Amino acid sequence: LVSRKNKAEDTVVNIKGEKVGAGELTHVFGPCSVESYEQVKEVAQAVKKQGGKLLRGGAYKPRTSPYDFQGLGEEGLQILKRVADEEGLAVISEIVNPADIEKAVDYIDVIQIGARNMQNFELLKAAGAVKKPVLLKRGMSATISEFINAAEYIISRGNDQIILCERGIRTYEKATRNTLDISAVPILKQETHLPVLVDVTHSTGRRDLLLPTARAAIAIGADGIMAEVHPDPAVALSDSAQQMDIPTFESFISEINKQQPVKS
Ligand code: PEP
Ligand code: MN
Repeated sequence: LVSRKNKAEDTVVNIKGEKVGAGELTHVFGPCSVESYEQVKEVAQAVKKQGGKLLRGGAYKPRTSPYDFQGLGEEGLQILKRVADEEGLAVISEIVNPADIEKAVDYIDVIQIGARNMQNFELLKAAGAVKKPVLLKRGMSATISEFINAAEYIISRGNDQIILCERGIRTYEKATRNTLDISAVPILKQETHLPVLVDVTHSTGRRDLLLPTARAAIAIGADGIMAEVHPDPAVALSDSAQQMDIPTFESFISEINKQQPVKS
């Protein structure tokens, strides 16, 4: 069902009136983790000032170490909803447990399924059963075919509002946190009718590479960029090495705004 052969025209994902995949670029910015109301509010205001409509923030954090910050859980979703309502933004947040999906839809506008859960089939089925857009990230060791099959799990349950997100794959290269598979973007655009975003934060793990990889993503035909922004990355409870502070975010936006989307 996600194949171009089945449907030639692009699927447009409608997030509270913001259309992803309709030709204009749609970006997703926000902190890695929701840490406090004040922290989310500061980033949300910066996103809004730059014309952004979509705010991200993790409440349930799938951390490699059980001793690292695990996220604020439902309280994090409440903070996101409060800030989104105040600022008129839509929010995207990762859900890791199928049982949390029904509760989460009251708080968030897009369900994110993270790299570590790309093949959590019960989660995919649960996300397919609700009427909410889903942002599905590529698993760090998933082939493009496995990624497309994960999206098929969602659409086969009745939900076609799916955004694919390339976020880098694990290779032998250690210079970056993951290896951004830039060619996945045109392949996914050719083989499926779904919009494709590129997460420059988790693919590179390096602040100095956010702008060049975002430029590459736009040039190759991505429908938008995801990147993490924090008021003070040095004290962030997760991903401190790669989040942008607000002045850096503002110059990042002004640079990528100079680029035109590629017509598919
Ligand atoms: C995230 O976007 O918050 C995240 C954890 O990313 P990924 O699932 O791509 O590692
Ligand atoms: Mn992160």
